[in-house]
Amino acid sequence: MMNVEQRLTGILGKSISEADDRQLYSALMQLVQDQAGEQIRPVSGRKLYYISAEFLLGKLLSNNLINLNLYDEVKECLEKSGKSLAALEEIDSEPSLGNGGLGRLAACFLDSLATLNLPGDGVGLLYHCGLFRQKFENELQHEKPDFWLDNNGWVKRTDKAYPVMLAGRQYAARLCQIAVTGYNGRTNQLNLFDLESVDEGIIGDGISFPKDQIEKNLTLFLYPDDSDDAGRLLRLYQQYFMVSAGAQMILEECAARGCNYHDLADYAAIQINDTHPSMIIPELIRLLGEKGVGFDEAVEIVTNTCAYTNHTILSEALEKWPAGSLYRVVPHLMPIIDRLNQIARSRSSDASTAIIDGNGTVHMAHMDIHFTHSTNGVAYLHTEILKNSELANFNRLYPWKFNNKTNGVTFRRWLMACNPMLTKEIESRIGPGFKKDADELKNLLALQEDEAALQRFADIKAANKRALAKWMLETQGIEINPDAMFAIQAKRLHEYKRQQMNLLFLIHQYFEIKAGHLPPVPLVSIFGAKAAPAYTIAKDIIHALRVLSRVVAEDPAVSPWMQIAFVENYNVSAAEKMFPACDLSEQISLASKEASGTGNMKFMLNGAVTLGTMDGANVEIAQQVGGENIYIFGQSSDQVIRRYAAGDYCAREWYEGDPNIRRAIDFLLSDEMLRYGSRENLERLKNELIYKDWFQTLPDFNAYTIRKLQAMTDYAVNPVKWRRMCLVNIANAGFFSADRTIAEYNRDIWQLG
Ligand SMILES: *Cc1c(COP(=O)(O)O)cnc(C)c1O
Repeated sequence: MMNVEQRLTGILGKSISEADDRQLYSALMQLVQDQAGEQIRPVSGRKLYYISAEFLLGKLLSNNLINLNLYDEVKECLEKSGKSLAALEEIDSEPSLGNGGLGRLAACFLDSLATLNLPGDGVGLLYHCGLFRQKFENELQHEKPDFWLDNNGWVKRTDKAYPVMLAGRQYAARLCQIAVTGYNGRTNQLNLFDLESVDEGIIGDGISFPKDQIEKNLTLFLYPDDSDDAGRLLRLYQQYFMVSAGAQMILEECAARGCNYHDLADYAAIQINDTHPSMIIPELIRLLGEKGVGFDEAVEIVTNTCAYTNHTILSEALEKWPAGSLYRVVPHLMPIIDRLNQIARSRSSDASTAIIDGNGTVHMAHMDIHFTHSTNGVAYLHTEILKNSELANFNRLYPWKFNNKTNGVTFRRWLMACNPMLTKEIESRIGPGFKKDADELKNLLALQEDEAALQRFADIKAANKRALAKWMLETQGIEINPDAMFAIQAKRLHEYKRQQMNLLFLIHQYFEIKAGHLPPVPLVSIFGAKAAPAYTIAKDIIHALRVLSRVVAEDPAVSPWMQIAFVENYNVSAAEKMFPACDLSEQISLASKEASGTGNMKFMLNGAVTLGTMDGANVEIAQQVGGENIYIFGQSSDQVIRRYAAGDYCAREWYEGDPNIRRAIDFLLSDEMLRYGSRENLERLKNELIYKDWFQTLPDFNAYTIRKLQAMTDYAVNPVKWRRMCLVNIANAGFFSADRTIAEYNRDIWQLG
């Protein structure tokens, strides 16, 4: 095999030093694509199709180079000619095809499938502008279109297109592909469908656009605003476009491999990621009917082929559609959904398991559970809640279908690529085996009493904190103290994740510091979060945090002891800078509400200690590291579920009964806050906290404050103990490798190859 330098000069037609960065970027892309092509393997046996509305990939250049074992050679070869790989990575735009944890999970799974040498493709949509880009003006979130496709060479258009009927009119779904490379593994594909007549020119102010021109807007944005009917219908159009094209592609590929449709389940496994792709069930039944398969047999085939992953128990996120909307968008599917509903009703007298309820509302998750062979939750606690409360009626009907697959993250991106110093240190201590077998990280436990080793890991953390501080200054204009303790809460803004509780803590600290009660260590609280465009209170919480950040910064008595930094446009690229630099990982959702979380795993892997509730995968993190290496606080999920059932939570009583809570909430409308803040937003948030507080921030406030101050004290007073906790967290992170998760899916659900 030719070396990298020869291949690059071959592609460039000149030497590396003569080429500019753009030319080098294209040449490297070509090199990666060629190399990726070499490891495409034929499929025999069953192949997985992971269908998802989101794939939050992150930038691809470095990760592909790592996975193809080209990274070090390319980096060296560029540096020899005075070029830098980091500069080329800046040219690459981050694909904007996802929103948060669910989309990032799909991306981690694709990496692990290819790494484990399993045949498994992604199926989704190519959104031209993806999720919005977040901009702050007057400390308020504004949304701008993200024209990520303009600077991204990874998407390949193919000459394949599939006809899709939307509201009685035919459209062509163009197949586009992004190669997915495994680490010393195979190359799979991410298949993304696009409607070519989509026109970015129709975008008006911000991310507004005419919602009823399907031929121009269909694949423009991920999650278009669904606060009106036209927006909701557009989401349905998108979903059906994705599943219909996907189903046709799957049937075509299987037929090409010898499938006669009756044996589809021997050729394909389809994983339905949350309910957005649920219509693939009736669509496949319809298409099989066209191929001559009878209805009852088609139902059985589809049930054996498909499996469903549930990601939430938040009722507003469990998709329901008025039958009228479905009649309008997909009239040809409704007779099938009606028949599926009849079958579902014939299997149980419990009306709550029907697909179409008495009001004519179609419940997508119900269709998934009845007509797939597996329903899984994404962490131990989440699956238990599904089985015992949320979906207990279904669990009684189909106990064998329910199973747990605790989420994981790919260590290639979330350790090797984002934290090269730590990776190198680990490798020098325990060898390179952990890159493929994450359980080998446990060998680090032998270093627990080795203070020199603990110091070395602490030095790496300190260097990563300085790097984050530099990046924040350069890209965000925010100056932070790298010698402070870094507590990070980075995730989508949602009330159940309780960024507002962190806000109340910070106001509380502000008062304490002003009163002369200094904390044990200066604290930098770093946030990253986008709020859904129509989610008013979420935007108010962002506003309050941004405004408080200014109030604190301008107060010389307070700012040496606390800083608040809210990163603009939190995405995978920002995350890769933040996770390696964190001391304290904030995982403070209301117990029972966070299905799993994966940010918690990435922080742990990079040697942060978790401050969290017993929710989602925090429960399993606590189990892995032991209670002395994690800061747990707050109500249990049982207590929360009981409190909801009793319906007796009254936020106002907490506000009136606790002077600290009252002082913190009242501060939202203080002169200090109103100097930079908008009264309308801050007042709405204040009222929400006093009169609703649906996610029970106030009952957990004191426990949170006490635990957080305990963590700050341990960090300041007993650094050796703290460093040992960090090491124990890294050493026990192996369980949270997506390789483990995917191996379990394959063993229990897919049986690929
Ligand atoms: C991991 C990740 C998430 C998910 O974070 P949670 O804390 O699990 O909600 C969201 N966004 C990005 C960019 C991520 O990398």
